[in-house]
Amino acid sequence: MSTSSVSTGSKGAERVGVLVAGGGIIGSAIACALVERGVSDVCVVDLDLAGVYASSELNAGGARATWWREPNISSCRDTIAFFEAHAAEVSLRQRGYLWLYDDADRFARARERRELQRSLGVHVELLEPGAIAARFPLLDRNLDELVGATFSPRDGLVNPNAVRRLYRERASAGGARFLNRHYVEGIEVGEREPGQRRVERVHVVEVEKGDPADESGLVHRILTQHRVPPEASVDHPSLRPEIFVNALGAWSPLVSARLGVRDWAVPVRRQIAMVDVRARDLPAGADLLGAGMIVDASGLYFHPEGPYTLAGWSDPDEPSGYDFRYDGDAFFEREIWPRLAHRASAFERCRHVRGWSGLYSVTPDCSGVLGRLPGFSNALEAHSFTGRGVMQSYAVGRGVAELVCDGGFRTLDLSPLAGERFLAGPEAWLKEDLHI
Ligand SMILES: Cc1cc2nc3c(=O)[nH]c(=O)nc-3n(C[C@H](O)[C@H](O)[C@H](O)COP(=O)(O)OP(=O)(O)OC[C@H]3O[C@@H](n4cnc5c(N)ncnc54)[C@H](O)[C@@H]3O)c2cc1C
Repeated sequence: MSTSSVSTGSKGAERVGVLVAGGGIIGSAIACALVERGVSDVCVVDLDLAGVYASSELNAGGARATWWREPNISSCRDTIAFFEAHAAEVSLRQRGYLWLYDDADRFARARERRELQRSLGVHVELLEPGAIAARFPLLDRNLDELVGATFSPRDGLVNPNAVRRLYRERASAGGARFLNRHYVEGIEVGEREPGQRRVERVHVVEVEKGDPADESGLVHRILTQHRVPPEASVDHPSLRPEIFVNALGAWSPLVSARLGVRDWAVPVRRQIAMVDVRARDLPAGADLLGAGMIVDASGLYFHPEGPYTLAGWSDPDEPSGYDFRYDGDAFFEREIWPRLAHRASAFERCRHVRGWSGLYSVTPDCSGVLGRLPGFSNALEAHSFTGRGVMQSYAVGRGVAELVCDGGFRTLDLSPLAGERFLAGPEAWLKEDLHI
């Protein structure tokens, strides 16, 4: 992928067909889908295309269609089909998702939801408690507290960086431009017809390249303080888009506020630890490196990642905010190790290698936001896909391209994801309970 620059300098405003704010996995998927529909003038702007603090860089790489709500199931199913068609490029490992339950009511709902999943072409097996140990010998502790499990063999893991790269390469090959080190700072809104507002101009600050060693420091500062320090700004180009798309992930509310639109999502920190387990400690028959994703009844999820095990757990009381601190050994010792060792003796002796944190963008119903921006004639939004943005990305990009090119959804009806549902009240929400 090559990056380019805006040619107008600080005075004029360059016309752009579709301006996508945010070049994470969602913005890149949108650019890819647009050029593949023949839209030639697509421009993606991002402060940091390397994505040091982007959720697309900091996630767990899980891809599953095992959800409980139709748009989430079908969009993830179609994205996994895209991953299957590019399996080598995205390092797809279809080793399944095993989901353990210790709550009878929740397991009954998982059982019920299989009918919807099946009707959408997603096969999910039910496992009785006795079958879990036989099939997954790694899990050898406290299985008597489980009421059952589901296993979805077509789900799995991908390399999210490779997915984003694939979208960007395809977008660039079709003529899309990616403007790196460009921060969306201001938006001018006009009203050409009563009640129909338009995004007229997008003001962007070009940020200096700086010393590479210092680069993430500056990016961190901007992404947590939400302004470019004057000494770091190089130019102030402005762009005049025909169509504007807010694909800013956890930063979407900042631009929504500039548009005068309510954004219901909040950024919430999520931490991940890498764990080293000695192969000799594995029980007979257990293949840790060949395992897929395991979601424990405690909410802990883990899977093999290179020579290590990647393990995450989401604190339900985590406050919202742009917080990237990793709690290190304290997180591992308090939250990760006890849960791992509770379920598998292999983790009794293990070592914390390192870890990181990234942002989930969480909505009140834990489903994403995709659609036209209410009250605007030329603005769309695609953000807040909580822990689902990688696995939903292809279908989201295609959906945005359909809205732009066809005026409505064609392949999948993703209209239930429109942000307006939050104005209509909880009955219109798309409450997704399989959220981790
Ligand atoms: C710990 C963790 C684990 C996860 N696990 C999974 C998983 O297993 N599977 C899955 O599918 N999803 C998972 N997710 C969620 C997934 O990572 C996100 O849903 C997805 O990456 C969101 O992509 P995005 O493009 O919307 O946002 P991002 O990747 O965050 O991209 C937003 C971009 O906007 C840029 N930006 C911000 N403000 C501005 C501005 N004003 N101007 C210009 N650029 C700006 C940023 O630089 C960034 O590149 C996980 C997330 C986390 C944090």
